[in-house]
Amino acid sequence: MFKTILLAYDGSDHAQHALELACDMAKTHGAALHVVHTPQQDSPPIVFGPYVSGLGTPPSQNKINEAGEKMVEKARADAKALGVDLAEVHIGKTQPSEFILKTADATHADLIILGRRGLGSVKSITLGSVSQAVAHGAKTACMTVV
Ligand code: ATP
Ligand code: MG
Repeated sequence: MFKTILLAYDGSDHAQHALELACDMAKTHGAALHVVHTPQQDSPPIVFGPYVSGLGTPPSQNKINEAGEKMVEKARADAKALGVDLAEVHIGKTQPSEFILKTADATHADLIILGRRGLGSVKSITLGSVSQAVAHGAKTACMTVV
């Protein structure tokens, strides 16, 4: 049924579970698997953001981009180990949910898979901000994985 699956990956445990499910579904459906990732400095809780980041030196954009490259290479290797060659990886420069939705359109994805939570440290709400925004904005099937 699904022809093109888009996995949103941020390296978190939930995203790792999403990767495993995405590989399984890609094999079952004979679908192409794309991965999307926007490199980001992991944010502390919003109330402490400016205060905490003012205490330490934040990583440079180059370092954040390098970490992003490593992250997608890990996704590629993990998918390969599960028997799936990624069709393409897409590295974003804009806000993650915006880029996920844009990439879903560009690849004609018929299923988006992402984690329910990510690397963020706010644990009090059920869905993370990216999974919420993607669920609201998706024009296609969207699966959130615990
Ligand atoms: P918040 O970021 O709102 O503090 P959170 O980090 O717990 O909360 P989300 O960021 O919504 O939760 O992450 C949910 C899922 O969205 C992740 O498991 C991953 O699949 C995807 N995701 C999050 N950030 C990115 C990103 N930068 N690039 C690609 N996918 C992402
Ligand atoms: Mg997050």
